[in-house]
Amino acid sequence: MVRLISLFSLLMMAVGGCSYSEESIAMPKDFKPLYAKPIEYTIQADKTTITVGMIGDVLLHNPLFTYDSYGVAFERVKEKLTEIDFLLANQESLPGGKELGLSGYPRFNSPKHIIRDLKASGVDMISLANNHILDQGEKGLTNALQHMNEYNMPYVGAYATEEDRAQQRIVEVSGIRIGVLSYTYGLNGMAIPDGKEYLVSLINKNNIMTDIDNMEGKVDIIAVSIHWGDEYALIPTDFQKELAKELSNAGADIIFGHHPHVLQKHEQIGHTSVFYSLGNFYSAQQFDSTNIGGIAKVEIHRTEYAGKCFIEVGTSTFYPTAVVRDKSHRYSVVPLREAGKRAIYNESWVERHVGLKAEK
Ligand SMILES: [Zn+2]
Repeated sequence: MVRLISLFSLLMMAVGGCSYSEESIAMPKDFKPLYAKPIEYTIQADKTTITVGMIGDVLLHNPLFTYDSYGVAFERVKEKLTEIDFLLANQESLPGGKELGLSGYPRFNSPKHIIRDLKASGVDMISLANNHILDQGEKGLTNALQHMNEYNMPYVGAYATEEDRAQQRIVEVSGIRIGVLSYTYGLNGMAIPDGKEYLVSLINKNNIMTDIDNMEGKVDIIAVSIHWGDEYALIPTDFQKELAKELSNAGADIIFGHHPHVLQKHEQIGHTSVFYSLGNFYSAQQFDSTNIGGIAKVEIHRTEYAGKCFIEVGTSTFYPTAVVRDKSHRYSVVPLREAGKRAIYNESWVERHVGLKAEK
């Protein structure tokens, strides 16, 4: 692809190497440009842009866990989901399957076909590190992971064995390698069986830093899916904000947060795009703003020039959604702008609250 790149851009890229091009060059105070306009060259540069996204909590309360299919529930936002190149989802209610007895709150157990229908709706990997992962004990987790394999659905944050945990989750989209990590603050009081710490990844700064370090050189960007914060709190806690900074310093490029069941703001920390909480994507919670969620999306650019590659975290956007009941009282996800009075807040509120313009 032929692109016109200014001399200044070229300088930025040359200095930036394979790091982020937002680093600017300090100009001496008495610097006078030789020409009024930057010199422009026509050069060969290959630029690729991909998108990485995530939806928040998929939490199958009663009666959602009784549904035979979820395809219809996601139909009205399917196009928005499938257009994202690599999409994560937080499957908060564990799909342990009907052999363990399906259940809703407080100890969830969901049917396995939620995995099938998320996959058919555009989800590429499921994040499992959350406080409900051991709701049905180790057996529930083991079953859920078997179901993931059955539907060929990649997962992260919970693992069958030590070897499974050691297998880094790296996906490649159009030549861009994405490393994915997932952690949870806790497990609702359920204990991880002794010697089986690999089952779930808990938030432990040392472990997270080691996981990030171990990806160095193998990936172009790192996305961290993290279960944190206070339930129903519209603003992030100090813990979330401090950890986000530390993860950014350590090398995380995208942080997708979840657990509060409501939306929290987006923040750009240097090269890192941080969504503090994505809210509920699909649940039967209908109080306050718990039926409002959305689809987070981050652009990643890769430019190849003179035999070198340059990776850049680009624009972040958010597409607000809501869970509403249709005429037959079935719950489904719709664009927030179509929810009307069935959601207490409208799209402008979400734009102000999250701090990103809603995607059209
Ligand atoms: Zn949670």
